[in-house]
Amino acid sequence: MGDAQAPFEPNKRMFRLVPSEYTQRECRHSPITVNRAKRRITCRSCGSVVEPFDWIAALVERHEVMENEWKRLVQQREVAGAELEELRRRERNAKARVRKWENKARVLERRPGVDSEVRP
Ligand SMILES: [Zn+2]
Repeated sequence: MGDAQAPFEPNKRMFRLVPSEYTQRECRHSPITVNRAKRRITCRSCGSVVEPFDWIAALVERHEVMENEWKRLVQQREVAGAELEELRRRERNAKARVRKWENKARVLERRPGVDSEVRP
């Protein structure tokens, strides 16, 4: 199932992060302030000056996690869609069987002298 609204191109990564000595800090420096005049990024949580490369690398990591999650959800939706379609098919078949037996019951009820009991 293709998805024209997908924010990621299927089978194509927007970024590639080469694992390195990048280490996890206690503060993820998520809300930041970008000061164009000073060409400086500061963390709005802890106030420290953020190394731009580290911040971009963290952003790429988060993007990668979201991309994988997106793909997982798309797959899940496809499976759920197929299961839903199968349930609808079974419902249509069940309704058709009920109609068939209701029609047989009506025919038998109209016949004089015929036992009206209907067995499926
Ligand atoms: Zn911070």
